[in-house]
Amino acid sequence: MPMPETSKANSDKNKAKPAISVAMSMDQISVNELAGVGPKIAEKLARLNISTAQDLLLHLPYRYEDRTRITAINQLRAGEKHLIQGEIELCDTVFARKRMLVCRLSDVTSSINLRFFHFNQQQKSALRKGNTIQCFGEVRFSFGNKIEMIHPEFKIINKDDPPPLKQSLTPVYPVTEGLHQLSLRKFINQVLLMLKANPGSLTDHLPDQLIKKFKLQSLHDAIDFIHQPPASVSESEIESGRSQFIKRLAFDELLAHHLGLRSLREKMKLCKAPKFKSESDLFLRFKQALPFSLTQAQDRVISELSADCSSGLPMMRLLQGDVGSGKTLVAAFAALQAIISDFQVALMVPTEILANQHVQSFRHWFDALGIKTVLLTGKLTVVQRREALELIASNKAKMIIGTHALFQRDVFFANLGFIVVDEQHRFGVHQRLALKEKGLKKGEQVHQLIMTATPIPRTLAMTAYADLDVSIIDELPAGRQEIKTVALAQNRREDVIARVHVNCRAGQQAYWVCTLIEESESLQCQAAEETAKQLRESLGDIKIGLVHGRMKSKEKEQVMASFKQGDIDLLIATTVIEVGVDVPNASLIVIENAERLGLAQLHQLRGRVGRGSTQSHCVLLYQAPLSEISNQRIAVMRESGDGFYIAQKDLEIRGPGEVLGTRQTGGLFFKVADLSRDKELVPLVKQCAEMLIEQWPEKVKPIIYSWIDEQANYASV
Ligand code: ADP
Ligand code: MG
Repeated sequence: MPMPETSKANSDKNKAKPAISVAMSMDQISVNELAGVGPKIAEKLARLNISTAQDLLLHLPYRYEDRTRITAINQLRAGEKHLIQGEIELCDTVFARKRMLVCRLSDVTSSINLRFFHFNQQQKSALRKGNTIQCFGEVRFSFGNKIEMIHPEFKIINKDDPPPLKQSLTPVYPVTEGLHQLSLRKFINQVLLMLKANPGSLTDHLPDQLIKKFKLQSLHDAIDFIHQPPASVSESEIESGRSQFIKRLAFDELLAHHLGLRSLREKMKLCKAPKFKSESDLFLRFKQALPFSLTQAQDRVISELSADCSSGLPMMRLLQGDVGSGKTLVAAFAALQAIISDFQVALMVPTEILANQHVQSFRHWFDALGIKTVLLTGKLTVVQRREALELIASNKAKMIIGTHALFQRDVFFANLGFIVVDEQHRFGVHQRLALKEKGLKKGEQVHQLIMTATPIPRTLAMTAYADLDVSIIDELPAGRQEIKTVALAQNRREDVIARVHVNCRAGQQAYWVCTLIEESESLQCQAAEETAKQLRESLGDIKIGLVHGRMKSKEKEQVMASFKQGDIDLLIATTVIEVGVDVPNASLIVIENAERLGLAQLHQLRGRVGRGSTQSHCVLLYQAPLSEISNQRIAVMRESGDGFYIAQKDLEIRGPGEVLGTRQTGGLFFKVADLSRDKELVPLVKQCAEMLIEQWPEKVKPIIYSWIDEQANYASV
């Protein structure tokens, strides 16, 4: 087959290999023993974490191609991949900016152009006029709105005796540089044939009793199915996860992750951590100085944290609480315990604006108690930075608040005992760990509190955060009112401006958020600048401020401070204010381009208001017409203010990959499992994990490592 893509495996290919003993099990057969695998290929396979035949079987396709039938050329649809068959009518080398080979392929229904930019003489002669070929590739529109295929795979066939079509969908596997799809497919096929000859050679680490108890398919059948699903099964059917075979694999994968995170946690429990004192004068003084009393939920969580931090084991706790539920104060109480016990605390936040705000809050709370708070961001001047580093290294600063700058190489903490990560979905696991490393001393671990306002549904938290304990603030401070939310099309913009005007004239404050989905910060800033100009023209009698990411730190800080003090009525902002910003007097927020934002982001943005006791409003401005998904999202925003409900809906609409994001889960990336699709498996997985640990502890490691690469995932955590 003159595919443009020949594997470099050729040199390895023809060496005679000793026959593999039938009695051997798949996890004892090294890939080196397979035909076509030499040291070079073995090294490339190792990069995919494949070293045994069993690893190859568990290297799963991420999609399929349908080569089980031939599509008539007049039935082709652009954007899809199809197998076609026809006769070459014309084959020409043409020069249109670049040299290329263009062929015209016809069947009885119509014709299509094939275009090649790289080709050799052999390929050119294979594509000779009059030859019949089978061809597989993606159909697209060319400039003249005609359909074409670019660089399709093709083979010459005998018209009167065409080769049989594939009986099953063709799997597409994740590959690595220098290891081609076709080679990988060949190796996996080889192993599948071996498996067919000797079905007992596949080791299923899950004990029979558990397979029966949880009504699972055999691993053997599941593996067979996923590598070569019968032509009668469509790809969407496989994705929908209805197949019991897919369920079995998803079950195993979730189980491996769950066990992996649990063992990580066990490992942490073997470490020691400082014991914080929980009672002291300062603690009471702090509590009494607050202008309000803590909610019951806050009180409960504070006790949970105290218990953890006085146990002598490192705390690893995730604190979930909806936007505005008062997580900062809870963190302050925990921080106070560390400080009373003579340790330093580092609080890491994703944005400079938030770092500044937290510094103000903590100074407001802690200065009176004689505790020094310092700020460390990347935007400090050289002198400021030197001063901050000195205070941190000399143990004079006890409460250290900052951005990523906190874990840079030249930052030395005198005695770091507690780290808090706020808005953790903005950070990766490795960033949390980098900060944690700053506190390592004499074999002791720091305590960690990880806070998030992006609520994670319980089932998900159990799987994605099995290494963390979870505390939940499930109550808002007294007197809060539900934010009233409306959605209006852009053509009502003037009405919205009028309403902002009325509100601000009446002494309330408002946000106007300019968002753009494009990751281009400069475009977003531009949009905000233009909006500010326009609104300043039409609303001359209210005070308007502007804040965006391109402004100098000092300017940003000043604008935010004036807004907080009430000197600015209307703040035009980009998404720099998305997380954490707390100005309780602001009671109206207008969000532009709401149709382009995800639910989590909308909920976060809306959470900037409704932080005081006045009735707050949120206006979602959108560009009509709304797509189906945007429509659903906006409906959810209008019907609920409950972050957990919204997160659940988000899962249903988008799937969990996006809710968590790979950054948030720190490498929680599944091959087959899908947490929203497979959510009913999660409690079973947990139950199964417990039984395994109880009764078959020796199986735990093999199960983890058949799915998870030790090095990449857990070794360093
Ligand atoms: P989030 O959980 O979103 O981080 P914050 O910690 O920013 O919320 O708190 C939101 C606002 O609620 C702040 O202005 C804070 O001072 C206030 N707050 C916190 N706890 C209480 C409480 N128990 N009663 C009244 N207001 C509170
Ligand atoms: Mg917060």
